[in-house]
Formats: sequence, structure tokens, C-alpha cells
Amino acid sequence: MNLNYVICHYAEIALKKGNRGFFEKKLVDNIKTALQNQAPDSFEFVKKISGRILIKLKGNSQPSDVLKNIFGLAYFAFAIETEQKIDAIENAALELIKDKKFETFKIHAKRAEKNFPLNSQQINEKVGEFVLKNLKKKIRVDLENPDIAVFIEIAEPYRTQCDKAKSRIELRSGAWADKSSFLYLEKIKGPGGLPAGSSGKGIVLISGGIDSPIAAYFSQKRGVETIYLHFHSYPYTSKNSVKRVEELIGILNKFQQKSKLILVPFAKIQQEIVSSKKIPEKLRVVLYRRFMFRIAEKIAEKEMAKVLITGESIGQVASQTLDNIKAVEEAVKIPVIRPLAGFDKEEIISVARRIGTYETSILPCDDTCSLFAPLHPETKADIKSVKLAEKNLDIKKLISTAVKNIEIKEV
Ligand code: ATP
Ligand code: MG
Repeated sequence: MNLNYVICHYAEIALKKGNRGFFEKKLVDNIKTALQNQAPDSFEFVKKISGRILIKLKGNSQPSDVLKNIFGLAYFAFAIETEQKIDAIENAALELIKDKKFETFKIHAKRAEKNFPLNSQQINEKVGEFVLKNLKKKIRVDLENPDIAVFIEIAEPYRTQCDKAKSRIELRSGAWADKSSFLYLEKIKGPGGLPAGSSGKGIVLISGGIDSPIAAYFSQKRGVETIYLHFHSYPYTSKNSVKRVEELIGILNKFQQKSKLILVPFAKIQQEIVSSKKIPEKLRVVLYRRFMFRIAEKIAEKEMAKVLITGESIGQVASQTLDNIKAVEEAVKIPVIRPLAGFDKEEIISVARRIGTYETSILPCDDTCSLFAPLHPETKADIKSVKLAEKNLDIKKLISTAVKNIEIKEV
């Protein structure tokens, strides 16, 4: 019995009435691209059918590892396909469970094709009776808490180009359509969320530490297409931070497939801040960060991104007190999203371990923000003194020079 189809269920996007078609198309495209990139020989087609997405697999492939990372999927199931006739469905159900060990079972049918002569309840009863009669085992039906459940989906006719020989009905247009039922036992949980890219673009400020990749992950989970921005202090620091960021983006690409990374030279700005005698040392980090935000805002405009995204978590370090967050954000107009605002470090680490970024994030590396960082950084920056300090700098010129010298990479 070959489980060579996958039935994909999506959760939230089923609720988005007006935009439903848009979300579904995005999800179908994302599944195709992910399979093409990560398991190109595993499938024949990906198609939307009545309220589900159907994948036809090749041979014995089961690309669970790819599907588990596709945002927008609530769950998916490897299924067998059979004709849309009750006796075929009964036999398929029996075939599916005859070698399984269980004492109690239930049948759970769903009929999207309303022309099918039996309704869902009638299908449950008929198939249940058939299984009881034909399986020579001591088994009984338990609707509440069964050891095993057989899910049956009677799909609306769907058109394929791949399977003409097997097509079942001719449509009025003259094209052929498949009339299929799908049966499966196990639902595999997907990651939930919204299809990658369905919410528009955001600029993720990525440092290479533990937090910012996780902020990127949670934004992608809500459909944001993330463009990565990294500030490096080369030649004061090595180019290790860039390598590490590229590696992290490579790991995150299992959710977004491919990404743009923008590298900004930051050393000159830091040097100006540090060398000005009139700028209090303890304000350095707040000033660095105001520059980062301003440059990111400029780049967001060019990239048509709607928001900035950072890995800040309230109070985690001196630069992330509410006062400092306020003083930094005052420098820009663009909204700044902080997906990790309410997370403890331990919680962030556990997500990083789960998605596979942790080991790379903790590799030793010189960090832009800690370069020339004061021993006692300000934790309660007030905007007046920050602005006074900035009067000693040619802000416009520093920003335009940095923006002029960016480097763009595809990862
Ligand atoms: P992370 O673990 O993400 O490095 P952190 O706890 O070290 O965060 P900070 O160094 O204060 O905290 O940085 C806070 C946020 O500012 C980061 O999460 C990131 O979004 C952004 N950021 C810091 N340094 C850089 C950098 N060099 N390039 C791009 N963004 C940065
Ligand atoms: Mg950091």
C-alpha cells in the first residue's frame, strides 16, 4: 500500500475570507519551491484541492523534514488514494489498518464532494461496519479515545496534467479531472503560522548572536519576508561576523528558501563617535544603535520593506532598557518590531536549539556593538542629552557614506 500522496491542512489562512485565494496560492508556491530546493526528486505535483493542498509524491519518498518547516501548514498526512466509490474506500481502509496493532478504532470521514451519495456520518458507519466484519480481530469502535483513527477525505474533482491515463471524469470543458478519495492514519504537525512572504517585507537587523536569528524566525512564521541587514566593523574586527551571519541565514533558509543579505560598513561611524571628545563615553552604544536604525530605515525605503525587526528583549542588557529603547527608536519613523520583547533568554535559547541556530550563534566572534563599548553604558538615556551629543557629528554624511558602501549578497 503506497502512501504516495500528502494531504496538507492549513489553519489560520482558511479564516482569511477575502484574501483566501492569495494565501492559498502563496502556500502552494512555497511548498513547490521548498520541495524543488530540498527534495527535488520527491514529488510530481502540488495542487490546491477543496480546502486542502495535495502533493503527489514519487516512489517511496516522504519529505516530512521539508514539510515540517513550511509556515502556514497546520498539519499534513501521508495518504493513499482510491476511487470515489464506497466499496473501494472500504477496502482501502481495511488495507490501511489490517496489520496495525489496536483494540479500538474510529472512522473519521469528510466529504468535500457533495455529489458523493453518502454523507460523512453514513461513510463512517459503513466503513466502520466493514472493518468490524472483515478484520478477524477483537476490536471495537471508540469515538472518544480510539487507539487508531482512519481519516477519509472525499475530495472535489481536481484537474491534473500528470495522470491522464487514470483520470476519472470528463469535464464539460473537455478536460479531465480526477475524482479521488484519500485515506490516512497519522496527522503530522506542521509549524503553523502564515505562508512565508504573505505579510510583506521586513528588514531584520542581524548581529550573529543568539537573539536576532530567532526574531527573524518568528517574523517569518507570521509571513514576513525578511531581508537581512548586518553592520560590521571591519577592519577593527575580523570578517568572522559576516561569515557567521551568512551561516545563520543558510540555516534560516529552510523556512524562507533564499534571502538577501545587506552588509553595512560601520567602523567609520564608530570611529567618529569614539574620537569625539564631546560625546560622553557612556552614550556610545545608544548612538551606535541610533545610526544602525537610521541606516536600516533608509535601506528599508529602497527595498520597500515596511518595518525593522530586532532581537531585543526588554531589559536583557543595558542597551535594552525601556528608556534606551525609547531613545534609540526616536531616531526613526519606521515601525520597529521586537518579536522577542517578552522572552527570557532561556526561552530564546530553547527555540534556537530547536531550529538549529544555537551552535552557530555561540561561536566566538568579535561583536560590533561591544567594540569600543564603555565599561558603564548608560541605562537611562534621555533624548535631550543624546541629541546634544549628536550635534558633534555630521549625521547625514555618515549615513549616506555608509549606505553608498553597502554590499548586497544572495544567500
Ligand atoms: P543578539 O543576540 O541578536 O546579538 P544581543 O542580546 O547581543 O542580541 P544587542 O547586541 O544589544 O543584543 O543587539 C540588540 C539587537 O540589535 C540585535 O538583536 C540585532 O537585532 C541588532 N544588532 C546588534 N548588533 C548588530 C549588528 N552588528 N548588525 C545588525 N544588527 C545588530
Ligand atoms: Mg549581539
